[in-house]
Amino acid sequence: MSSSVAVLGIGIMGAGMARSLLREGHEVTVWNRNPDKAKPLADDGARVADSAADAVAAADVVITMLFDTDSVVDVMDSALDAAREGAVWLQTSTVGIEGARRLTALAEQKGVAIVDAPVIGTKAPAENGKLVILASGPSSLREKVAPVLDAVGSATQWVGEETGQGSRLKLAVNAWVGTMVNGIAQSMALTKALGLEPQAFLDAVAGQAVDAPYVQLKGKAIIDEDFTPSFELDGMIKDLDLIIAAMDDHGTDSTLARSMRDRGAAASLAGHGADDMASVWYGYRSS
Ligand code: NAP
Repeated sequence: MSSSVAVLGIGIMGAGMARSLLREGHEVTVWNRNPDKAKPLADDGARVADSAADAVAAADVVITMLFDTDSVVDVMDSALDAAREGAVWLQTSTVGIEGARRLTALAEQKGVAIVDAPVIGTKAPAENGKLVILASGPSSLREKVAPVLDAVGSATQWVGEETGQGSRLKLAVNAWVGTMVNGIAQSMALTKALGLEPQAFLDAVAGQAVDAPYVQLKGKAIIDEDFTPSFELDGMIKDLDLIIAAMDDHGTDSTLARSMRDRGAAASLAGHGADDMASVWYGYRSS
């Protein structure tokens, strides 16, 4: 079943998700603050809206894929007033516990149904419709959003009926992703500092229980110093702030997360905030 879908936020993830929706035959309207990023999607069959409200007014399902809670609130506070009767808002950004609460409250205030649906996967899965969606919200909304979730993802994990539970699980997942990328950067920086080729580290773990496709992928990016962003370093820092807040509020030690944030901030300060998060490597490198 095809739906009218609006995608607000045509960044790395939103662009890929909009293309996946178009491929699956949905009617897609896109909007981005910087219109230059949205315009190329017209070639794929999307309608490019002049305003967020214009995009929302055209849709049965409204996807937001903006950077953080503040940007989503900025855009949706007025745009939601244009929502159609019965429209559902799919919030897919990584916003953390308090962020999900704020967005749910905004939806309630505007009388629009919301599903909290942060995603796992990066640029390529977004382009290929292979994201994993961590959805939460009333089960009565599932049928309506299912065709949209199926178009952008390979699987939807319904985490619970309480809106925001998906955002909770997303924090645990991103703590793991952050730990992996920091671990890879740390070991490769150490290998280099010890006078060895960083590739030697990748060869040593290749195919072992301690290897992972992600280790080889991000390790190669570090060796090539190719930090074309799949997920920007400043996004990782934003997520670590959400993770640290959740840990501190829920009695989980945040020492490791704080160290990772510290190394990310050092690399960002050195000019790598808009590079891929593997550039956290610059936070570990001594030369
Ligand atoms: P991105 O490429 O940096 O895109 C961010 C989007 O937010 C852009 O469309 C940007 O618009 C918009 N934006 C930022 N501030 C805004 C504001 N104040 N008002 C209006 N629009 C604003 O980021 P992304 O990688 O697609 O990530 C989007 C979300 O998905 C984030 O919450 C991220 O944590 C999450 N996520 C990312 C990945 C990943 O691997 N990339 C994976 C899972 C989840 P402009 O173009 O006008 O700046």
